[in-house]
Amino acid sequence: MKYVRFSLDGKDSYGALKDGKVYAGEGTPFTDFKLTDRCFDEDEVRLLPPVVYSKALCIGLNYRDHAIEFGLPIPETPVVFMKPSTSLIGPGDDIIYPDMCHRLDYEAELAVVIGRKCRNVTEEEAGDYILGYTIANDVTARDLQPKNGQWTIAKGFDTFLPLGPYISDEVDGSALMITSRVNGETKQKSNTSNLIFPVHYLVSYLSHVMTLLPGDVISTGTPGGISGMNIGDIVEIEIEGLGILRNTIAKA
Ligand code: MG
Repeated sequence: MKYVRFSLDGKDSYGALKDGKVYAGEGTPFTDFKLTDRCFDEDEVRLLPPVVYSKALCIGLNYRDHAIEFGLPIPETPVVFMKPSTSLIGPGDDIIYPDMCHRLDYEAELAVVIGRKCRNVTEEEAGDYILGYTIANDVTARDLQPKNGQWTIAKGFDTFLPLGPYISDEVDGSALMITSRVNGETKQKSNTSNLIFPVHYLVSYLSHVMTLLPGDVISTGTPGGISGMNIGDIVEIEIEGLGILRNTIAKA
């Protein structure tokens, strides 16, 4: 299934992409979910972020080449930070360039969406708690990152977590091509097989710290090749089997 959220009859509904159409669903992917026969062309509906999370846990420095481009050592345990729910935007929404930022970066990332309540699970069990995968852009005010002891400010602005366009349970997250482009020019190109801490390890590790709830997102880190964006730029992230997440940079 390729789960989406969209606005239908004035309320936000789950649905799924099938045969090039958006089908309305009943229920949610976290409870009983089934597709109805109501369907729409993709350009008839505006897709929302495919999930609304209680927490988005993001992993820093999880690709060797990205740690090296920062001149930082390869981490021995996952580097973890969180993004607030107010950072969340969907496919096609604008990323707002904050006035206090002077360098705004994209970060292409594979995101894991938790399907059911998860606490103290092993790596072997982790897969049972994953609903599926989607694309995240860990947008970062790079110039603010070193000024603050933590990354909450640099990575926590409104609109700094584009997510989508859909959540797929049809892919294996352990070996997917991941690419980012700005105005059509390729900036990052890697494979999720290069993750230092792979997906099931991260789910297990984090579940031993805090309870992961249905809809929670783990964004697994970005490969090397980061750079800045300007107002008007179009940033696209493509992951094999997960489509393209496209957003435009807009003035505050
Ligand atoms: Mg990141």
